[in-house]
Amino acid sequence: MSLLEVHDIHTFYGNINALKGVSLNVDEGEIVTLIGGNGAGKTTTLNTICGITPARSGRVLLDGDDITHLRPHQIVERGVIQSPEGRKIFTRLTVRENLEMGAFIRSGSKRDSTGIARDMEMVFERFPRLKERQKQLGGTLSGGEQQMLAMGRALMARPRILLLDEPSMGLAPLLVRQIFNVVITLNNDTQTTILLVEQNALMALAVADRAYVLQSGYITHADTADKLRHDPAIIEAYLGG
Ligand code: ATP
Repeated sequence: MSLLEVHDIHTFYGNINALKGVSLNVDEGEIVTLIGGNGAGKTTTLNTICGITPARSGRVLLDGDDITHLRPHQIVERGVIQSPEGRKIFTRLTVRENLEMGAFIRSGSKRDSTGIARDMEMVFERFPRLKERQKQLGGTLSGGEQQMLAMGRALMARPRILLLDEPSMGLAPLLVRQIFNVVITLNNDTQTTILLVEQNALMALAVADRAYVLQSGYITHADTADKLRHDPAIIEAYLGG
């Protein structure tokens, strides 16, 4: 049994059929990436897992429990935590307050102030820039810093599985590398399970254990990241030939 199992989900926006039978699984401790072009359905897949855009049919299981029709807050309470695209932080709260908001959704026993302070230090160690700017308003951060803050806020929730939505979007290459380094060290140090959605297939396949390719609402490929990285069809379609 995998930590997360998605079985044949079909998701709609009105009449628009965005996901046409998507299945995937993520084992404890893995980094799995979901790559694909614009409009392939990557964000919809994450939002279906989180209960924001529930599936019309199919099932989402966490630890074997059916969470398909739970409310988004109930799914969050089970430790399925999304780090949204960087600009979705609280712009009028400080960096520190944004991080505290992340801890707010922890379940009762984990909401102890010592634990929260320790986790905040851990986030500051991973993202020293956030420590320097902890009193600054979120909205005044650069794009890269906002992305770090979105990830830091998600980590404060102590995710069982971290869903990362295009962490590289709109960032300069150096920052993209920094963000992906954090993904790797986080997974190495704490065995955090990660489902990474990316358009930047090159970087995503370099950090992930396994990968799925999504195209027009269908999974077209599923394999180890290493195999897909060397697959001529993937190279031509997603890795710039
Ligand atoms: P991108 O990388 O561009 O964000 P994506 O792979 O994340 O793309 P989705 O955002 O999941 O793709 O979109 C999948 C499909 O669903 C697209 O055809 C998109 O136009 C459509 N779609 C997404 N959100 C809505 C919505 N709120 N209403 C109607 N259609 C939508």
